[in-house]
Amino acid sequence: MMRQYELVERVRRYNPNADEDLLNRAYVYAMKAHGQQTRASGDPYISHPLEVAAILTEFGLDDATIVAAILHDTIEDTGATREEIDRLFGAEIARLVDGLTKIKKLDLVSKRAEQAENFRKLLLAVADDVRVLLVKLADRLHNMRTLDFVPPEKRKRIAEETLDIYAPLAGRMGMQSVRAELEDLAFTHLMPDARKMILARLDDLEKKNGANIRQIEQELREELSQRGIEADVVGRRKPPYSIWRKMERKSVGFEQLSDIYGFRVVVRDVEECYRVLGVVHTKWPSVPGRFKDYISTPKQNDYRSLHTTVVGPGRQRVELQIRTGDMHDIARHGIAAHALYKDAHVADVETLTRESGAYRWLQRTLELLAEGDSPEEFLEHTKLELFHDQVFCFSPKGRLIALPRGATPIDFAYAVHTNVGNTAVGAKINGRIAPLLSELHNGDEVEIVRAEGQTPPSAWESAVVTGKARAAIRRATREAVRAQYKDLGRQIVSRAFERAERPFSDDLLRAALPRLARGSCEDVYAAVGRGEILSGDVVKAVYPEFKDDRKIATAIDRNDTGWFGLRKASRLMFKVPGSQADERAIPIRGARGDMPVRFAPNGGAVPGDRIVGILTPGEGITIYPIQSPALSAFDNEPERWLDVRWDLEEMGADKFPAQLKVSIINEPGALGVVAGVIGEAGANIDNVSFEARSPDFRDMLIDLEVTDLKHLTAIMSQLKAKSVVSKVERVNG
Ligand code: MN
Repeated sequence: MMRQYELVERVRRYNPNADEDLLNRAYVYAMKAHGQQTRASGDPYISHPLEVAAILTEFGLDDATIVAAILHDTIEDTGATREEIDRLFGAEIARLVDGLTKIKKLDLVSKRAEQAENFRKLLLAVADDVRVLLVKLADRLHNMRTLDFVPPEKRKRIAEETLDIYAPLAGRMGMQSVRAELEDLAFTHLMPDARKMILARLDDLEKKNGANIRQIEQELREELSQRGIEADVVGRRKPPYSIWRKMERKSVGFEQLSDIYGFRVVVRDVEECYRVLGVVHTKWPSVPGRFKDYISTPKQNDYRSLHTTVVGPGRQRVELQIRTGDMHDIARHGIAAHALYKDAHVADVETLTRESGAYRWLQRTLELLAEGDSPEEFLEHTKLELFHDQVFCFSPKGRLIALPRGATPIDFAYAVHTNVGNTAVGAKINGRIAPLLSELHNGDEVEIVRAEGQTPPSAWESAVVTGKARAAIRRATREAVRAQYKDLGRQIVSRAFERAERPFSDDLLRAALPRLARGSCEDVYAAVGRGEILSGDVVKAVYPEFKDDRKIATAIDRNDTGWFGLRKASRLMFKVPGSQADERAIPIRGARGDMPVRFAPNGGAVPGDRIVGILTPGEGITIYPIQSPALSAFDNEPERWLDVRWDLEEMGADKFPAQLKVSIINEPGALGVVAGVIGEAGANIDNVSFEARSPDFRDMLIDLEVTDLKHLTAIMSQLKAKSVVSKVERVNG
């Protein structure tokens, strides 16, 4: 338990001129007032105000604040009055204690309207003097530290309130150390299992990657000291609650989190910060889009640092914060840190209020409060500012939808209703048409344009940030893909019968269902489409005497490994490169008849792609898909661009070049599976080349020929469905 003399000692350490007599009088007064009262823990009550005061000494606060902390519960819980405190300790301290008493009367977690009103009162109570808020935060911190002794229902309510109001307020005041501790304590009480799970996973990770992390720390230290930069390098992992919040916000699993480790590099001055950044970026590849310069543009709560993320040894992503010692103080102590610059080292009310971005925010919020008439509106307004990680948007009818930062109109649509999401085709933000993938901002009014009978594109899945939207999109696309597989399977099966020159109908297939161990023809088609059943086996099920002479793909699947198997297959399924006449007729309109037309190397184009022709005088016209990055080379030569399109009438049975990049798991038979899918789908493979990516994966670059975009898309989704395939991308697609 904190003792009075220890408290005085702590104050004197940063404030040699502290009024010891005043501190002692406050202690005696509070001690007498609380008398025999005890805390839930059984400790004498006086231990609590003393601990609260002790927390505030860490921020170098002035005598009045420390005294107010010692007295903060007297008016509410004992016979003490404001008048008495005014008389004994002066008007300034009495005002502070009175402000704290007002906050204490508020029960923040209550019905919505009441909550709003109470929050408004809370801010009003701190309006005159930010020190009231600092004492309140310290009070809450000590209560959270001793929450174990409180009955469970009350515990939950206090922990929720802490997460909702006090932790973000501490963050807003720039007091990250207080914020982090409040969050961790609340997390422990609200979701003990989640916290335990994260801690266990962190320990696992430590065993796996700990050496890498220490290696980075070591290398960084050496590198900096070689350049004469004196730096304090500290590696740490993120606190469990911040990991949890990230998992929630991004709806990702622990494995997918990439920046669990962070390094803090503290140096002497701003110039060195940028030098450290240079060293770091030279040594390790940086992750694009992750560099942030909060030194030239500080955050609203005065936070300053350089942030960057690099890929360290073992492909481990590591986040770095680079700052000076002064910046570090502000990062930890926020609004209270300003005192540290003053000669006096004591945070009095002037230091706290002057030049503090956090306090300016508080004042602005309070001005709004004075203007506004609806407390609910005010709460929303304040929460907008308070909860950094959320955006609040409105439906045209005024319904409030809270979304994580980075949310899109698609997230909004799914938050309103799954059906609204599934049928969304466009959006209006604040009355203007906007892309469905735009990022929403606080206060946006979002109207979703809908069309029935839509399927959400699967690409949305990676664009949304809410779990609800992601799950719904996955569900909807899975159904669409299943239908696609069925169509594809039906085509493959009927082609197989044609090849076998046997009659085929659903009735014939139905009779053979037991042999295929499937319940319906639809099931068979879907299974063939997914590649689970080979079309030859379906023919054999209907005509048991039938001999499939196209068994190669199966043979590769089952017996052969890697390249060798593929070579064997190539005799049947691959076209010999160069066998195709280069100057064949391409069914394009808009090209001049006397010009040779060819496809762009690397990627080609297929009917269904939007295309452009690039004219090369003396050579001819090269066709590119409109999305081809190679086109940017011709940006400055508009006269060479030809508006061309596919001539659907001239379209024969021709096939067209495309290129796929397929990442496969490096295991026996994987290549055979890929070749099998492409062959089964009736496409030609022209060429295959490999890049080894890691021992587990290989990337293959496949030049193939397909009839059109639909054909290519079907092949891509069929490849994606294979367990050995981890990724399929169209090159230039
Ligand atoms: Mn208290």
